[in-house]
Amino acid sequence: DADLAALDPEVAASINAEAARQRGGLEMIASENHTAVAVMQAQGSVLTNKYAEGYPGKRYYGGCEHVDVIETLALERVKALFGAEYANVQPHSGAQANASVMHALIKPGDTIMGLNLAHGGHLTHGMRINFSGKLYNVIPYQVREDDHRIDMAEVERLAQEHRPQLIVAGWSAYARQLDFAEFRRIADSVGAYLMVDMAHFAGLVAAGLHPSPVPHAHVVTSTTHKTLAGPRGGIILTNDPDIAKKVNSAVFPGQQGGPLEHVIAGKAVAFKIAGSPEFKERMERVLAGAKILAERLTQDDVKAAGIGVVSGGTDVHLVLVDLRNAALDGQQAEDLLAAIDITVNRNAVPFDPRPPMVTSGLRIGTPALATRGFGEAAFREVADIIAEALIAGPEGDLSGLKARVEALAAAHPLYPGVSDLA
Ligand code: PLP
Repeated sequence: DADLAALDPEVAASINAEAARQRGGLEMIASENHTAVAVMQAQGSVLTNKYAEGYPGKRYYGGCEHVDVIETLALERVKALFGAEYANVQPHSGAQANASVMHALIKPGDTIMGLNLAHGGHLTHGMRINFSGKLYNVIPYQVREDDHRIDMAEVERLAQEHRPQLIVAGWSAYARQLDFAEFRRIADSVGAYLMVDMAHFAGLVAAGLHPSPVPHAHVVTSTTHKTLAGPRGGIILTNDPDIAKKVNSAVFPGQQGGPLEHVIAGKAVAFKIAGSPEFKERMERVLAGAKILAERLTQDDVKAAGIGVVSGGTDVHLVLVDLRNAALDGQQAEDLLAAIDITVNRNAVPFDPRPPMVTSGLRIGTPALATRGFGEAAFREVADIIAEALIAGPEGDLSGLKARVEALAAAHPLYPGVSDLA
């Protein structure tokens, strides 16, 4: 059996090139992270060979005794981590976790409410050509124009008017915390289920640095690969036994066939790490780094270039840069930072006048850099570099900034001591 480099040098070369890209630059896409080597080992294991339709102890295939142990570990750890009574660790992704909950609790044609995509919601919260927008009648809510915070009075008014069966609270691009208790009060007032999608902030919740939605929501979904820093995948949590039962049959056989036991093993490892004091310390640096970035990007030199920060700051792991009054658009800003090896993504901001492929925003996150060991001084340096690049614009001389990025990357090695990541 030839190894990858011998059997398929083309794929091996691209994996090595990607490892070099991640090591040489700074990853600031808010939904990304660098997972642990141990997680990648679990994911790259023989578990990928195994079919295990069903759940631990109730499988439709033989030979599941070892994957049963692994999936049970993942379940017990995630329940302890988030203080939930029931969990499902099989969703292949965050999108499938959300699809499974909707499949479990509501019917096609029912009404759902979710945060407008253009205001920071996710595709699966009711975007027109997503399954959620096609199967359900979507009533989006949005943020206020003056402070960019979700308008809870508007959420209540819409809920009273449209009587949804499900309200989704959660976001992909929003820099503030949600009022889960208020969402639940509104959901109860119209007999709706409350689903909180904590995909982005799950790591902060695990570390005890962000309010937990688990005591408030009927059901909580998440990805496992963002702040939580595990393998790519999804989870579902609830404290309600009836909902747990419905969710389990909606995931399998409702939405999926065989679970990815190699990914579930990676999830188990990630949940173990996320329960450690080191993980909490890392999440503290994630939050401190985002605050440093928001403060730098609201100083006068940045303001003078017409650049601001949506909602004026951040309470989480990301900052949304507001370019609505800047000459620079989102696409140009993304390209500008890419040219100095900082990877971010352009993002629509609320009330964005530019088209979705261009946008007037950047979403910048700190989790991956915190994983690399960034502390306050390094975050201050990267915040300065970003500010100077955005002020300089596409015509500016960026060579000095690129050298400073390289120095930061070299001072914070990614996967030190690991030579072969392919
Ligand atoms: N939910 C939220 C809030 C997200 O931000 C995302 C991903 O960006 C998802 C769900 C979907 O996760 P996945 O890409 O794993 O399907």
